[in-house]
Amino acid sequence: MDLIPSFAVDHTNLQPGIYVSRQDEAGGVVITTYDIRMTAPNHEPCLNPAAIHTIEHLVATYLRNLDGWKENIIYWGPMGCLTGNYLIMKGYYSCEEVRQLMIGAFEYVRDYDDEVPGTTPATCGNYLMHDLPMAKYEAKRYLERLRNHFCSEYPGVERPEDASGKVFFDA
Ligand SMILES: [Zn+2]
Repeated sequence: MDLIPSFAVDHTNLQPGIYVSRQDEAGGVVITTYDIRMTAPNHEPCLNPAAIHTIEHLVATYLRNLDGWKENIIYWGPMGCLTGNYLIMKGYYSCEEVRQLMIGAFEYVRDYDDEVPGTTPATCGNYLMHDLPMAKYEAKRYLERLRNHFCSEYPGVERPEDASGKVFFDA
């Protein structure tokens, strides 16, 4: 498979959706990083840290227990800008396949009504920083975007360089 060319993303024009952020090869296996973008960067409020932290715990639990998928889940976690999450998968799935996966994951968050898994001092680095009601609200909002206003094509922009010629990567 051809790896996607390296390109930068115009964050002033990015809509919530699911995007292929990058593809890498490791040991002859393609590793795909998906941008699971929940809010429009620099236009809408980002998620609050406690809500996206709870989404991290719940979606990671969901994905790592999901038959047919769990073997290929490498990583799930929030972006530092708090506008979405990264999903890293072994292999390649289309954005449409990942959309179906995410609809299941965010329905799980929306309907979750129990203690958030892993919220003890021994299992979480900030176990008091959780917000299940806001996580459920954000999940419901994102589900609406996934179902009715789905985007999967990145708007491009040139990568910035610093004075010494170092190129900026990532979000
Ligand atoms: Zn945690």
